[in-house]
Amino acid sequence: MPTPLEPLPFETEASERDLTLMAQQLGRTMRGVHSIARRCACGAPAVVRTAPRLPDGSPFPTSLYLTLPSMVEACSRLEARGLLAEWTAELEGNEELQESYARAHERYLERRAELGSAEEIEGVSAGGMPTRVKCLHAVVGQALAEGPGVNPFGDRALEMAASDTTIEQCRCEVTPAMLEEEGA
Ligand SMILES: [Zn+2]
Repeated sequence: MPTPLEPLPFETEASERDLTLMAQQLGRTMRGVHSIARRCACGAPAVVRTAPRLPDGSPFPTSLYLTLPSMVEACSRLEARGLLAEWTAELEGNEELQESYARAHERYLERRAELGSAEEIEGVSAGGMPTRVKCLHAVVGQALAEGPGVNPFGDRALEMAASDTTIEQCRCEVTPAMLEEEGA
């Protein structure tokens, strides 16, 4: 038996209000919600933890899913600068980085396995791990959920975004307090 992982450091239960907020953040209903892995300073969900299999039976590999609009946008801006190709090329030539990224991949799979399994996605994590950097939203989702030192590219993206976007700084259009006022 492998040693179980430490619990996710920021994980909290998902409430009805969280589901409402996520639907507003994403413009659709988030399915397969297990918990909230990280929150914005205002309390809005930032990273949602989902089951490996959705209620309709389809497998869902991205079990740490970034929903916070300001952070989603920050990742998209970084991707638009060409970082995915740049970092993938860097990864190919850097053994140390390959090792830490492979550990992030393993951690992703272990973490997801805590919630069950789906054979269609066995060995498949997210974001292009372990050999490519294909989606900053996925690696940042893991970095925010697990804390620093787990995903090297997620940490790096958060550092690069930090001049205008951090998890400690709320930029939400809709916050839990607003919903509470509305009585939702
Ligand atoms: Zn917020």
